[in-house]
Amino acid sequence: MAKAPRMPIESGCPDPIQYMHPTMRRNYGQWVYHDRPRPGVLHHTSKNHEEIWTVRCGTSRQMDVYTIRKLADIADEFADGHVRFTMRSNVEYMVADEAKVESLIEALTESGFPVGGTGPSVTMISHTQGWLHCDIPGTDASGIVKSLMDEMHEEFTREEMPNRVHMTTSCCQINCGGQGDIALNVQHTKPPKINHDLVANVCERPTVVARCPVAAIRPAMVNGKPTLEVDEKKCICCGACFPPCPPMQINDPEYSKIALWIGGKNSNARSKPSFHKLVASNLPNNPPRWPEVTAVVKNILSIYKEDARDWERMGEWVDRIGWPAFFEKTGLPFTKFHINDWKGARHELNSSAYIRF
Ligand code: SF4
Ligand code: SF4
Repeated sequence: MAKAPRMPIESGCPDPIQYMHPTMRRNYGQWVYHDRPRPGVLHHTSKNHEEIWTVRCGTSRQMDVYTIRKLADIADEFADGHVRFTMRSNVEYMVADEAKVESLIEALTESGFPVGGTGPSVTMISHTQGWLHCDIPGTDASGIVKSLMDEMHEEFTREEMPNRVHMTTSCCQINCGGQGDIALNVQHTKPPKINHDLVANVCERPTVVARCPVAAIRPAMVNGKPTLEVDEKKCICCGACFPPCPPMQINDPEYSKIALWIGGKNSNARSKPSFHKLVASNLPNNPPRWPEVTAVVKNILSIYKEDARDWERMGEWVDRIGWPAFFEKTGLPFTKFHINDWKGARHELNSSAYIRF
Protein backbone atom coordinates (compact mmCIF):
# COMPACT_ATOMS: atom_id res chain seq x y z
CA MET A 1 0.00 0.00 0.00
CA ALA A 2 1.45 3.42 -0.96
CA LYS A 3 2.39 5.62 2.03
CA ALA A 4 1.54 8.97 0.43
CA PRO A 5 -1.95 9.31 -1.05
CA ARG A 6 -2.03 9.37 -4.84
CA MET A 7 -2.83 12.92 -5.96
CA PRO A 8 -6.08 13.43 -7.87
CA ILE A 9 -5.71 14.12 -11.57
CA GLU A 10 -8.02 16.14 -13.75
CA SER A 11 -10.09 13.13 -14.66
CA GLY A 12 -10.46 10.17 -12.33
CA CYS A 13 -11.17 9.76 -8.68
CA PRO A 14 -8.75 10.43 -5.82
CA ASP A 15 -6.97 7.63 -3.99
CA PRO A 16 -9.74 5.80 -2.06
CA ILE A 17 -7.41 4.23 0.53
CA GLN A 18 -7.24 7.45 2.55
CA TYR A 19 -11.05 7.45 2.99
CA MET A 20 -11.43 3.78 3.94
CA HIS A 21 -12.64 2.60 7.29
CA PRO A 22 -9.52 1.97 9.46
CA THR A 23 -10.44 -1.73 9.80
CA MET A 24 -10.54 -2.01 5.99
CA ARG A 25 -7.19 -0.20 5.66
CA ARG A 26 -5.52 -2.45 8.22
CA ASN A 27 -6.83 -5.58 6.52
CA TYR A 28 -6.40 -4.55 2.91
CA GLY A 29 -5.98 -7.76 0.86
CA GLN A 30 -6.28 -9.88 4.03
CA TRP A 31 -9.95 -10.86 4.01
CA VAL A 32 -10.60 -14.59 4.26
CA TYR A 33 -14.37 -14.91 3.92
CA HIS A 34 -17.66 -13.08 4.08
CA ASP A 35 -21.25 -13.99 4.80
CA ARG A 36 -24.64 -12.26 4.76
CA PRO A 37 -26.26 -12.27 8.21
CA ARG A 38 -29.45 -10.69 6.78
CA PRO A 39 -30.54 -9.00 3.54
CA GLY A 40 -28.65 -5.75 3.06
CA VAL A 41 -25.78 -6.64 5.43
CA LEU A 42 -22.36 -8.07 4.49
CA HIS A 43 -19.99 -9.36 7.17
CA HIS A 44 -16.29 -9.75 6.34
CA THR A 45 -13.69 -11.53 8.49
CA SER A 46 -9.93 -11.07 8.01
CA LYS A 47 -6.87 -13.25 8.59
CA ASN A 48 -6.21 -11.14 11.71
CA HIS A 49 -9.69 -12.11 13.03
CA GLU A 50 -10.92 -8.55 12.61
CA GLU A 51 -14.50 -8.13 11.39
CA ILE A 52 -16.47 -5.46 9.59
CA TRP A 53 -20.18 -5.15 8.79
CA THR A 54 -21.39 -3.27 5.71
CA VAL A 55 -25.01 -2.07 5.64
CA ARG A 56 -26.33 -1.26 2.16
CA CYS A 57 -29.32 0.95 1.43
CA GLY A 58 -31.01 2.16 -1.75
CA THR A 59 -31.57 5.77 -2.77
CA SER A 60 -33.65 7.64 -5.32
CA ARG A 61 -30.45 7.80 -7.44
CA GLN A 62 -30.44 11.51 -8.23
CA MET A 63 -30.51 13.34 -4.93
CA ASP A 64 -30.77 16.92 -3.71
CA VAL A 65 -28.25 18.29 -1.24
CA TYR A 66 -30.63 17.84 1.72
CA THR A 67 -30.92 14.09 1.08
CA ILE A 68 -27.14 13.73 0.75
CA ARG A 69 -26.72 15.68 4.02
CA LYS A 70 -29.19 13.33 5.69
CA LEU A 71 -27.19 10.30 4.50
CA ALA A 72 -23.99 11.94 5.77
CA ASP A 73 -25.59 12.78 9.15
CA ILE A 74 -26.62 9.12 9.55
CA ALA A 75 -23.00 8.14 8.81
CA ASP A 76 -21.72 10.56 11.48
CA GLU A 77 -24.19 9.42 14.11
CA PHE A 78 -24.28 5.67 13.51
CA ALA A 79 -21.13 4.67 11.56
CA ASP A 80 -18.32 6.97 12.74
CA GLY A 81 -18.59 8.93 9.49
CA HIS A 82 -17.80 6.00 7.17
CA VAL A 83 -19.97 5.90 4.05
CA ARG A 84 -19.47 5.21 0.37
CA PHE A 85 -21.58 5.45 -2.77
CA THR A 86 -21.55 2.44 -5.08
CA MET A 87 -21.66 2.35 -8.86
CA ARG A 88 -25.36 1.38 -8.66
CA SER A 89 -26.13 4.35 -6.40
CA ASN A 90 -26.54 2.21 -3.35
CA VAL A 91 -25.04 3.72 -0.21
CA GLU A 92 -22.92 1.56 2.10
CA TYR A 93 -22.05 2.21 5.75
CA MET A 94 -19.22 0.31 7.46
CA VAL A 95 -19.10 -0.49 11.19
CA ALA A 96 -16.54 -2.60 13.07
CA ASP A 97 -18.91 -3.33 15.96
CA GLU A 98 -21.82 -5.72 15.43
CA ALA A 99 -23.82 -3.94 18.15
CA LYS A 100 -24.07 -0.87 15.87
CA VAL A 101 -25.72 -2.69 12.97
CA GLU A 102 -29.36 -2.74 14.18
CA SER A 103 -29.47 0.95 15.16
CA LEU A 104 -27.96 1.90 11.80
CA ILE A 105 -30.60 -0.16 9.94
CA GLU A 106 -33.36 1.47 12.01
CA ALA A 107 -32.06 4.98 11.30
CA LEU A 108 -31.91 4.30 7.56
CA THR A 109 -35.33 2.67 7.40
CA GLU A 110 -36.97 5.45 9.43
CA SER A 111 -35.46 8.02 7.05
CA GLY A 112 -36.95 6.23 4.03
CA PHE A 113 -33.85 4.44 2.73
CA PRO A 114 -34.62 0.72 2.20
CA VAL A 115 -31.89 -1.68 3.37
CA GLY A 116 -31.15 -4.51 0.92
CA GLY A 117 -29.61 -5.10 -2.48
CA THR A 118 -27.20 -7.84 -1.39
CA GLY A 119 -27.30 -11.52 -2.35
CA PRO A 120 -30.09 -12.91 -4.55
CA SER A 121 -32.16 -9.74 -4.81
CA VAL A 122 -32.97 -7.10 -7.41
CA THR A 123 -30.29 -4.58 -6.60
CA MET A 124 -30.49 -0.91 -7.56
CA ILE A 125 -30.77 -0.47 -11.32
CA SER A 126 -27.68 1.12 -12.85
CA HIS A 127 -28.52 3.76 -15.39
CA THR A 128 -26.74 6.06 -17.75
CA GLN A 129 -26.59 9.79 -17.09
CA GLY A 130 -29.06 10.80 -19.77
CA TRP A 131 -30.27 14.35 -19.75
CA LEU A 132 -27.95 15.29 -16.89
CA HIS A 133 -24.80 15.38 -19.01
CA CYS A 134 -25.14 13.54 -22.33
CA ASP A 135 -26.10 15.03 -25.69
CA ILE A 136 -28.13 12.18 -27.24
CA PRO A 137 -30.62 10.68 -24.78
CA GLY A 138 -33.95 9.56 -26.14
CA THR A 139 -35.51 9.13 -22.71
CA ASP A 140 -34.99 9.91 -19.05
CA ALA A 141 -33.15 6.79 -17.87
CA SER A 142 -33.24 7.84 -14.20
CA GLY A 143 -37.03 8.29 -14.40
CA ILE A 144 -37.47 4.69 -15.60
CA VAL A 145 -35.26 3.51 -12.73
CA LYS A 146 -37.32 5.42 -10.16
CA SER A 147 -40.62 4.10 -11.60
CA LEU A 148 -39.39 0.49 -11.65
CA MET A 149 -37.87 0.55 -8.17
CA ASP A 150 -41.03 2.15 -6.73
CA GLU A 151 -42.82 -1.01 -7.90
CA MET A 152 -40.10 -3.51 -7.03
CA HIS A 153 -38.46 -2.27 -3.83
CA GLU A 154 -39.62 -5.37 -1.96
CA GLU A 155 -37.39 -7.44 -4.25
CA PHE A 156 -34.56 -5.14 -3.12
CA THR A 157 -35.19 -5.62 0.61
CA ARG A 158 -35.70 -9.40 0.39
CA GLU A 159 -33.32 -12.04 -0.93
CA GLU A 160 -35.86 -14.26 -2.66
CA MET A 161 -34.61 -14.33 -6.25
CA PRO A 162 -32.79 -17.43 -7.57
CA ASN A 163 -29.62 -15.33 -7.87
CA ARG A 164 -28.77 -11.64 -7.99
CA VAL A 165 -30.54 -9.60 -10.67
CA HIS A 166 -28.58 -6.72 -12.17
CA MET A 167 -30.65 -4.37 -14.28
CA THR A 168 -29.49 -1.49 -16.46
CA THR A 169 -31.18 1.27 -18.39
CA SER A 170 -29.69 3.19 -21.31
CA CYS A 171 -31.16 6.29 -22.84
CA CYS A 172 -29.87 5.70 -26.38
CA GLN A 173 -28.90 2.74 -28.55
CA ILE A 174 -25.20 3.30 -27.95
CA ASN A 175 -26.04 1.75 -24.58
CA CYS A 176 -23.29 2.99 -22.30
CA GLY A 177 -25.29 1.24 -19.56
CA GLY A 178 -23.66 -2.06 -20.44
CA GLN A 179 -24.83 -5.64 -20.08
CA GLY A 180 -27.57 -6.63 -17.66
CA ASP A 181 -29.69 -9.57 -16.53
CA ILE A 182 -32.42 -7.21 -17.74
CA ALA A 183 -31.51 -4.17 -19.84
CA LEU A 184 -33.88 -1.44 -20.98
CA ASN A 185 -32.61 0.53 -23.95
CA VAL A 186 -34.08 3.18 -26.19
CA GLN A 187 -35.04 1.89 -29.64
CA HIS A 188 -35.41 4.40 -32.48
CA THR A 189 -37.69 3.08 -35.22
CA LYS A 190 -37.46 5.87 -37.84
CA PRO A 191 -34.45 7.53 -39.51
CA PRO A 192 -33.62 11.09 -38.44
CA LYS A 193 -35.66 14.01 -39.78
CA ILE A 194 -33.32 16.68 -41.12
CA ASN A 195 -33.90 20.39 -40.54
CA HIS A 196 -32.13 21.54 -43.72
CA ASP A 197 -32.21 25.24 -42.78
CA LEU A 198 -30.00 24.62 -39.78
CA VAL A 199 -27.44 22.09 -41.05
CA ALA A 200 -25.15 24.61 -42.76
CA ASN A 201 -25.01 26.82 -39.66
CA VAL A 202 -24.67 24.15 -36.97
CA CYS A 203 -22.89 21.07 -38.36
CA GLU A 204 -19.44 20.07 -39.49
CA ARG A 205 -20.79 17.93 -42.31
CA PRO A 206 -17.73 15.65 -42.79
CA THR A 207 -17.85 14.80 -39.06
CA VAL A 208 -21.50 13.80 -39.33
CA VAL A 209 -20.90 11.75 -42.49
CA ALA A 210 -17.99 9.94 -40.78
CA ARG A 211 -20.11 9.21 -37.73
CA CYS A 212 -22.57 6.90 -39.50
CA PRO A 213 -21.68 3.22 -38.97
CA VAL A 214 -23.39 2.11 -42.22
CA ALA A 215 -22.37 5.04 -44.49
CA ALA A 216 -25.97 6.17 -44.94
CA ILE A 217 -25.29 9.93 -44.82
CA ARG A 218 -24.25 11.94 -47.88
CA PRO A 219 -23.61 15.67 -48.43
CA ALA A 220 -26.45 17.29 -50.40
CA MET A 221 -27.79 20.68 -51.54
CA VAL A 222 -31.33 21.79 -50.67
CA ASN A 223 -32.71 25.21 -51.72
CA GLY A 224 -29.21 26.21 -52.73
CA LYS A 225 -27.80 25.52 -49.25
CA PRO A 226 -25.32 22.78 -48.31
CA THR A 227 -26.95 20.11 -46.17
CA LEU A 228 -27.08 16.33 -45.74
CA GLU A 229 -29.30 13.48 -46.87
CA VAL A 230 -29.90 10.02 -45.41
CA ASP A 231 -30.30 6.83 -47.40
CA GLU A 232 -33.24 5.47 -45.42
CA LYS A 233 -32.81 1.95 -46.80
CA LYS A 234 -29.37 1.77 -45.21
CA CYS A 235 -30.09 3.67 -41.97
CA ILE A 236 -30.27 1.41 -38.91
CA CYS A 237 -31.78 4.21 -36.75
CA CYS A 238 -28.89 4.16 -34.29
CA GLY A 239 -28.96 7.88 -33.45
CA ALA A 240 -25.17 8.34 -33.70
CA CYS A 241 -25.52 11.28 -36.12
CA PHE A 242 -27.62 13.36 -33.74
CA PRO A 243 -24.85 14.48 -31.28
CA PRO A 244 -22.58 16.07 -33.90
CA CYS A 245 -25.58 17.41 -35.82
CA PRO A 246 -28.68 18.31 -33.72
CA PRO A 247 -30.65 19.25 -36.89
CA MET A 248 -30.72 15.47 -37.59
CA GLN A 249 -33.47 14.97 -35.04
CA ILE A 250 -34.14 11.30 -34.29
CA ASN A 251 -35.87 11.45 -30.91
CA ASP A 252 -39.60 11.29 -31.49
CA PRO A 253 -42.45 10.91 -28.98
CA GLU A 254 -44.17 8.37 -31.22
CA TYR A 255 -41.33 6.51 -32.94
CA SER A 256 -38.68 6.33 -30.19
CA LYS A 257 -39.56 3.24 -28.18
CA ILE A 258 -38.08 1.10 -25.42
CA ALA A 259 -36.59 -2.35 -26.08
CA LEU A 260 -35.95 -4.93 -23.41
CA TRP A 261 -32.97 -7.29 -23.49
CA ILE A 262 -32.14 -10.07 -21.03
CA GLY A 263 -29.37 -12.48 -20.06
CA GLY A 264 -26.32 -10.19 -20.08
CA LYS A 265 -23.63 -10.79 -17.51
CA ASN A 266 -20.22 -9.23 -16.91
CA SER A 267 -18.93 -11.65 -14.30
CA ASN A 268 -17.28 -14.98 -15.05
CA ALA A 269 -18.60 -16.61 -11.87
CA ARG A 270 -20.29 -19.99 -12.55
CA SER A 271 -20.37 -19.37 -16.32
CA LYS A 272 -18.70 -17.12 -18.88
CA PRO A 273 -19.78 -13.51 -19.42
CA SER A 274 -22.64 -13.15 -21.90
CA PHE A 275 -24.34 -10.55 -24.09
CA HIS A 276 -27.95 -9.71 -23.40
CA LYS A 277 -30.50 -10.57 -26.10
CA LEU A 278 -33.62 -8.81 -27.37
CA VAL A 279 -36.88 -10.16 -25.93
CA ALA A 280 -39.37 -7.27 -26.23
CA SER A 281 -39.39 -4.31 -28.58
CA ASN A 282 -41.60 -1.34 -29.43
CA LEU A 283 -42.66 -0.79 -25.82
CA PRO A 284 -44.00 2.76 -25.39
CA ASN A 285 -41.45 5.29 -24.10
CA ASN A 286 -44.13 6.53 -21.77
CA PRO A 287 -43.07 8.96 -19.01
CA PRO A 288 -43.58 9.73 -16.19
CA ARG A 289 -44.22 6.13 -15.00
CA TRP A 290 -43.55 3.84 -18.02
CA PRO A 291 -46.36 1.40 -17.00
CA GLU A 292 -45.98 -0.89 -20.06
CA VAL A 293 -42.24 -1.34 -19.49
CA THR A 294 -42.77 -1.96 -15.77
CA ALA A 295 -45.42 -4.62 -16.48
CA VAL A 296 -43.10 -6.58 -18.83
CA VAL A 297 -40.16 -6.42 -16.38
CA LYS A 298 -42.32 -7.59 -13.47
CA ASN A 299 -43.71 -10.45 -15.56
CA ILE A 300 -40.23 -11.69 -16.56
CA LEU A 301 -39.00 -11.42 -12.97
CA SER A 302 -41.96 -13.35 -11.55
CA ILE A 303 -41.51 -16.23 -14.05
CA TYR A 304 -37.73 -16.30 -13.43
CA LYS A 305 -38.30 -16.34 -9.67
CA GLU A 306 -40.72 -19.24 -9.95
CA ASP A 307 -38.94 -21.29 -12.59
CA ALA A 308 -35.17 -20.86 -12.21
CA ARG A 309 -33.08 -23.15 -10.05
CA ASP A 310 -31.17 -21.81 -7.07
CA TRP A 311 -28.15 -19.71 -8.17
CA GLU A 312 -29.13 -19.62 -11.85
CA ARG A 313 -28.64 -16.13 -13.30
CA MET A 314 -31.27 -14.98 -15.80
CA GLY A 315 -29.20 -15.96 -18.87
CA GLU A 316 -28.26 -19.35 -17.38
CA TRP A 317 -31.95 -20.06 -16.74
CA VAL A 318 -32.84 -19.28 -20.38
CA ASP A 319 -29.89 -21.37 -21.62
CA ARG A 320 -31.30 -24.34 -19.69
CA ILE A 321 -34.96 -24.03 -20.68
CA GLY A 322 -34.33 -22.70 -24.22
CA TRP A 323 -35.64 -19.55 -25.93
CA PRO A 324 -38.94 -21.13 -27.17
CA ALA A 325 -39.80 -22.04 -23.57
CA PHE A 326 -38.86 -18.53 -22.41
CA PHE A 327 -41.30 -16.94 -24.88
CA GLU A 328 -44.01 -19.49 -24.00
CA LYS A 329 -43.67 -19.04 -20.25
CA THR A 330 -43.57 -15.23 -20.34
CA GLY A 331 -46.24 -14.90 -23.04
CA LEU A 332 -44.04 -12.41 -24.89
CA PRO A 333 -44.56 -12.51 -28.67
CA PHE A 334 -41.65 -13.55 -30.90
CA THR A 335 -41.77 -10.93 -33.66
CA LYS A 336 -39.94 -9.92 -36.82
CA PHE A 337 -37.86 -7.55 -34.69
CA HIS A 338 -36.08 -10.57 -33.19
CA ILE A 339 -34.70 -11.43 -36.60
CA ASN A 340 -31.44 -9.76 -37.57
CA ASP A 341 -31.62 -9.23 -41.33
CA TRP A 342 -28.79 -6.71 -41.51
CA LYS A 343 -26.40 -7.88 -44.22
CA GLY A 344 -23.36 -7.25 -41.96
CA ALA A 345 -24.76 -9.57 -39.30
CA ARG A 346 -22.54 -12.48 -40.29
CA HIS A 347 -19.48 -10.41 -39.48
CA GLU A 348 -20.61 -8.86 -36.20
CA LEU A 349 -20.12 -10.37 -32.75
CA ASN A 350 -21.40 -13.87 -33.23
CA SER A 351 -23.04 -14.09 -29.85
CA SER A 352 -26.63 -12.95 -30.16
CA ALA A 353 -29.83 -14.99 -30.08
CA TYR A 354 -30.87 -13.56 -33.42
CA ILE A 355 -31.85 -15.84 -36.26
CA ARG A 356 -29.53 -15.14 -39.22
CA PHE A 357 -30.18 -15.42 -42.93
S1 SF4 B 1 -26.92 5.60 -22.98
FE1 SF4 B 1 -26.52 6.96 -24.69
S2 SF4 B 1 -27.71 8.86 -24.24
FE2 SF4 B 1 -27.55 7.70 -22.37
S3 SF4 B 1 -25.75 8.59 -21.32
FE3 SF4 B 1 -25.05 6.75 -22.52
S4 SF4 B 1 -24.37 7.54 -24.51
FE4 SF4 B 1 -25.62 9.17 -23.50
S1 SF4 C 1 -29.32 7.14 -37.36
FE1 SF4 C 1 -27.36 5.98 -37.42
S2 SF4 C 1 -27.51 4.74 -39.27
FE2 SF4 C 1 -29.07 6.34 -39.46
S3 SF4 C 1 -28.10 7.99 -40.58
FE3 SF4 C 1 -27.80 8.44 -38.40
S4 SF4 C 1 -25.81 7.54 -37.88
FE4 SF4 C 1 -26.46 6.63 -39.86
